[in-house]
Amino acid sequence: MADRESNPQVIRIGGFLKRSAVNGPGVRSVIWVQGCPIRCEGCFNKDLWSITGGKDVGIRQLFKTIISTSGIDGVTFSGGEPFFQAEALAVLAEKIHSQGLSVMTFSGYPYGLLAGSHERSWNRLMAATDLLISGPYIAQPDFRNPDPGATGKEYHFLTDRIRPGDLDPDSTSALVEYTIGKDGTVLATGFPDATLHHRFHASGTKGGF
Ligand code: SF4
Repeated sequence: MADRESNPQVIRIGGFLKRSAVNGPGVRSVIWVQGCPIRCEGCFNKDLWSITGGKDVGIRQLFKTIISTSGIDGVTFSGGEPFFQAEALAVLAEKIHSQGLSVMTFSGYPYGLLAGSHERSWNRLMAATDLLISGPYIAQPDFRNPDPGATGKEYHFLTDRIRPGDLDPDSTSALVEYTIGKDGTVLATGFPDATLHHRFHASGTKGGF
């Protein structure tokens, strides 16, 4: 499977958020990787498809920013497609684990393809992931409910760092956050209503690092 990793010391990112309460259990930093070859119908992250978008950020810089963020429980890799940059993300994930933080990875690929792969970098990222949420895009998923019928996604708890109870499906917390940047751009993250998302997207919804 082709990927874009000519330089595993950097990660091509489309967005970064230091803290989010809607992208996995607890409070998490979120990295939206740039580049996705899957091209799901209905994807509303199309601006993350091209590998020429976004920018390269060194793993050391990302790690430094993450560990300087107090009170987070872990880091979520979203996209774009994280397995398109599996080696670099695996290196970062291993560093994150060394600090006692958890790693959650989204992927548009089905679990069987990821788990059965002989691609070394994919195996390494799988080994460094605590919770994998895999499968193609489904409109309006709710990551807190691991029932595939409710989400269309496959939940795989690969270690004990994140357990099914951590997702708290009865939580009353919001499923979406809007963060207003210093330059006035609005980052919509989580699982917003599609109409609302597109309305914000039209006015510019972009994370920054
Ligand atoms: S895998 Fe994610 S980013 Fe890629 S096309 Fe599907 S929904 Fe969009």
